[in-house]
Amino acid sequence: MSVLHEVVNPATEDVVTTVELLDAAGTDAAIARAQSVAKAWAAVTPADRARLLRRFAEAVDGAVEELAQLEVRNAGHTIGNARWEAGNVRDVLHYYAAAPERLFGRQIPVAGGLDVTFKEPIGVVGVIVPWNFPMPIAGWGFAPALAAGNPVVLKPAELTPLTAIRLGELALEAGLPEGVFQVLPGKGSVVGQRFVDNPGVRKVVFTGSTTVGTGVMAGCAQQVKRVTLELGGKSANVAFADADLEKAAATAPYGVFDNAGQDCCARSRILVERSVYEKFLGLLEPAVQGVKVKAPGAEDAEMGPLISPAQRATVRSYVEEATEPVDVAFRGSAPEGPGYWYPPTVVLPRSASDRVWREEVFGPVVAVLPFDDEADAVAKANDSEYGLSGSIWTRDVGRALRVSRGVEAGNLSVNSHSSVRYSTPFGGFKRSGLGRELGPDALDAFTETKNVFIATD
Ligand code: NAD
Repeated sequence: MSVLHEVVNPATEDVVTTVELLDAAGTDAAIARAQSVAKAWAAVTPADRARLLRRFAEAVDGAVEELAQLEVRNAGHTIGNARWEAGNVRDVLHYYAAAPERLFGRQIPVAGGLDVTFKEPIGVVGVIVPWNFPMPIAGWGFAPALAAGNPVVLKPAELTPLTAIRLGELALEAGLPEGVFQVLPGKGSVVGQRFVDNPGVRKVVFTGSTTVGTGVMAGCAQQVKRVTLELGGKSANVAFADADLEKAAATAPYGVFDNAGQDCCARSRILVERSVYEKFLGLLEPAVQGVKVKAPGAEDAEMGPLISPAQRATVRSYVEEATEPVDVAFRGSAPEGPGYWYPPTVVLPRSASDRVWREEVFGPVVAVLPFDDEADAVAKANDSEYGLSGSIWTRDVGRALRVSRGVEAGNLSVNSHSSVRYSTPFGGFKRSGLGRELGPDALDAFTETKNVFIATD
């Protein structure tokens, strides 16, 4: 039996709409539908599959503003971010539209014949999306999966289904055949769990918390089901004394408070060389207070609300309601009244064992600690179960490279806070994930390599 779910605007607490959540039987029926079109989709000629993906990209391009406004209402994203996110779906579709005609196998020299490899589609791909970036994370899964010839079933997060539902409609309007891309709103424990348990799904792409992702991996292991995991993070932003400290401090808030800190790549641990620690904090304070936290639809908004009251309660449990004492150094501002607001907050942990230093807060809270030298910086950055992203600020090129090689994380930026480009690989070390999305390598995650030997003797 399906149930109705109220979608709430996190900036106003108003109900935006209601969405029907699918049950297990409905999910299985959708998976069966996807299975029934798998052969036909794989058989679409490379040029035609490419053309359909380009049309899908054009349909998204025509709907960028509509999708962005929808995300402002559903997820409280700032309008500037939301436009970038819708544009990212378009760009990722365009990028992978080039793939069907370039899924090259290899010809390998062997004795007595010809040996060739093929990149075969895997079959139905289940994409499970979290609420923090509903559009881009969906696109990073469905675009390469479709390009490689797989049908896709996609489950958006319960809190943020609206843009995914619209993307499903746009795919049909663009001419993708029925059943090739289905968006299935529902609970993780129901729809998501069926993706894991139903053998009709041959690969799961999961983005979300490390706890749920660990269970998804264990479930997939029962069937040796392919799985890509993009999980949590607690990334370090390392500032050396020789860096452009003004720039490092001015940009640090945007490296962690973007999307109200609800970003797996948030640089939520700032490490500063001890000799410039006080100076850096002095520069950071006005930068934090300058972050424009306001109604996310405002053109100049830089940060909106948290996604839900539950998320705000979680964030408070690391600061106001923490079990251990937490020293708040300074904060920015946030609107009063309705909405799940929380101000940008800088805390000074007493040690590297403090909970706020170790755990992913997933809110606008950043912790700052000093370090002594390069070796100490790398050791402190790596003292985490996570390894998703990070930043290194220094003018010394050799040090930038040494530290980049030393930090155990999948996505690092030197003298910037940039983690994601659709043409470069994205993913985590350690408990931040398994496998890589985006870039040229993602297609390997959606194909099986088949080797064929043809005797000539
Ligand atoms: P979550 O793990 O609670 O949920 C993620 C998705 O999994 C949701 O769609 C949920 O419905 C579904 N789900 C829940 N239980 C399930 C189950 N038993 N089987 C299958 N699916 C299930 O995460 P969240 O709170 O929505 O998102 C926040 C987390 O996502 C953070 O930890 C964040 O770091 C992480 N994240 C990681 C990346 C990355 O690329 N590494 C990107 C964004 C978010």
